[in-house]
Amino acid sequence: MDFRLTEDQDLMVQAVRELMAQENWEPYFAECDAKHEYPQRFVQALCELGIDTLLLPESAGGLDAGWTTVAAVWEELGRQGVPTYVLYQLPTLGTVVEVGTPAQQEKILSYLGTGKQIWNFAMTEPGAGSSFAAMSTTYTRRDGKVYLTGHKTFITSSAGVDQLVVMARNAEDMDQYTEWFVDMSLPGITKEPLEKLGLRMDSCCEIYFDQVELREEDMFGQEGQGFARTVADFDLERFLVAACDYGWALCAYEDALRYANQREQGGQAIGRYQLIQDKIARMRIALTNMRNMVFETAWKADNDLLGKGDCSMLKLYCTQAAAAVVDDAIQILGGIAVTGAHRVARFYRDLRVERISGGTDEMMVLTTARAALKEYR
Ligand SMILES: Cc1cc2nc3c(=O)[nH]c(=O)nc-3n(C[C@H](O)[C@H](O)[C@H](O)COP(=O)(O)OP(=O)(O)OC[C@H]3O[C@@H](n4cnc5c(N)ncnc54)[C@H](O)[C@@H]3O)c2cc1C
Repeated sequence: MDFRLTEDQDLMVQAVRELMAQENWEPYFAECDAKHEYPQRFVQALCELGIDTLLLPESAGGLDAGWTTVAAVWEELGRQGVPTYVLYQLPTLGTVVEVGTPAQQEKILSYLGTGKQIWNFAMTEPGAGSSFAAMSTTYTRRDGKVYLTGHKTFITSSAGVDQLVVMARNAEDMDQYTEWFVDMSLPGITKEPLEKLGLRMDSCCEIYFDQVELREEDMFGQEGQGFARTVADFDLERFLVAACDYGWALCAYEDALRYANQREQGGQAIGRYQLIQDKIARMRIALTNMRNMVFETAWKADNDLLGKGDCSMLKLYCTQAAAAVVDDAIQILGGIAVTGAHRVARFYRDLRVERISGGTDEMMVLTTARAALKEYR
């Protein structure tokens, strides 16, 4: 396996580096985090480089650049402290090309280049978190229309997006899980924003659907296929979380090492103390492992070799390893890390949420172990 970037991948990373050098973006991110605002100005600048089309097929105007390019770009962004979690929806746009109607495709693709929040998927409910089995949102057909009723929770980006893909069960056949492309301005929809420990540059809401009137053509994908379509996207989602977390760990590590060389206590740089060196060595090992796993997973995906539990294992390892690296970085940086608005404190909060959103650590353990057992059946 050769982890060297191709010329095109390198050019993309260079473009990101140049964008980052144009301005000190950190105060902007800190402000967006404090105000719980989406950093649209930054995302728009990234979209001008084509970041929103990295995984879109060329037939839809995309770069079709593959997961390895995403890994390289996310690594560079993360290393510079960028909240890459606000970009999760961009690499998933290919889904609309695969299963969306022409009207749904037109709508979603019209956002390209704008940096605006586009859409998201709503599965989770108060009674259906890790397991969808108890989902109670339903759709009912009446007089040629479809009526959606239910309550979704923890839905990312939902305060700002114009449309959500909502999973519901057929009230006449509860075994059928179907997704609906819902215009969020329709009557009968109410939202309640939720406070969050981290990932504060993106919103998260409770959403209530009360007899929301839809048309048959608002179905997203095929009837009864909602569950299968969602599961098919889990790998990419988990890969993105892992790449995001690895990037922050790299950023925290570099901040901590620069500080360890420069900060003096007891007459010498703190980096000369073995207790600090112990942390540095452990951080470096974890970063090496994370990087290898992220790029190996990307390489497998680009070569159609992705195994069933690969992305779950990757997310499980990277969220926990990145949290440990950031924790060590905070210890090395001392008081300045936990006062003011140092970016490592933001990573610390954000990483804690990542171990729950996008599938909990425990579910990643189960998926990883089941896939491993299957190999020896
Ligand atoms: C910030 C954030 C953003 C999110 N964004 C979205 C979104 O955009 N769209 C969406 O649909 N959902 C979203 N979610 C929902 C997210 O996927 C769920 O929160 C997550 O799957 C866990 O569900 P839960 O919180 O109900 O916990 P539960 O499923 O109730 O789990 C509670 C605890 O029990 C453990 N547990 C559950 N089942 C088992 C089991 N079988 N074996 C062992 N342990 C188990 C869990 O691992 C966890 O530790 C988001 C969540 C958060 C926190």
